[in-house]
Amino acid sequence: MRSFRTPTRLALVVATALAAVTLAGCSSGSPAADGASTAASGSGQIAVVASTDVWGDIAAQVGGDLVSVTSIIDDPSKDPHEYEADAQNQLALSKAAVVVENGGGYDDFVDTMLSSSKNAGATIVNAATVSGYDLAPTTGAFNEHLWYDFPTVKKVVDQLATSFAAIDPAGAATFTANASTYTTKLDALVASEAELKSSFQGTGAAITEPVPLYLMDAAGLVDETPAEFSEAIEGGTDVAPDVLAQTLALFSAGQVKVLVYNEQTSGPQTDAVLEAARAGNVPVVPVTETLPTGTSYLDWMSGNLAALKSALSQ
Ligand SMILES: [Zn+2]
Repeated sequence: MRSFRTPTRLALVVATALAAVTLAGCSSGSPAADGASTAASGSGQIAVVASTDVWGDIAAQVGGDLVSVTSIIDDPSKDPHEYEADAQNQLALSKAAVVVENGGGYDDFVDTMLSSSKNAGATIVNAATVSGYDLAPTTGAFNEHLWYDFPTVKKVVDQLATSFAAIDPAGAATFTANASTYTTKLDALVASEAELKSSFQGTGAAITEPVPLYLMDAAGLVDETPAEFSEAIEGGTDVAPDVLAQTLALFSAGQVKVLVYNEQTSGPQTDAVLEAARAGNVPVVPVTETLPTGTSYLDWMSGNLAALKSALSQ
């Protein structure tokens, strides 16, 4: 199957023939297994579909037992930018009461599938819209990795609580309480970022892909990677030799104290960067786009912050 969008965009390929065999692989979160017994069929739970397991986990924390969450992209070993949606995803979206999407070009396939499934009634929570950021900045590209931006996650949490309450008014107090508990935990992550910033503001850092940039900015780090490098890696295109050379030189010249490396996007050029970091004794902090297996969003992010702190303290 070939994607027909640019490699930076999630591809839409409806593989009807594969619907049956992909069933097991494309939902995550527990109650979603009984996808047939969604709100429409009287289980009482709000049927939520999230484009990734990151937004799915956050929605599940806000909704608790009152929601049933299906996450479309949940494979930690694959690059979500190259995801190919299937008929099972379409089926889940056709039954969704609430759809949580990242937006900003990351998961456009969700809107496409939603409109072709004729589900016009679903409430859409779009993180990019909720963020309030300029989605078409005049310089640089909009960074769509919004789940690394805790202020945006807090806004999404509020929006989820409001959306769930509109559908299930009897659960409103529960949603508000869950959102408030969750926000307190997000505030702790924001405090960790501020603590890092107080110690390491202005420290040079390198990336392979823009995935962790919101978090790194909040921690006061300065991304020294040539933009042409990280944009090419994200877009799945080749890096020009001089740009690669400039990137590799960061690690021998002492310009950066850490490499934050996207494990879900690798190839010969990111491998070369990893090698250069090791050769230059620059610590590497691995990050991913989707949830590592068996972890929650909050634990994952506090782990990322702890790893960053430990790397910067070396
Ligand atoms: Zn990415």
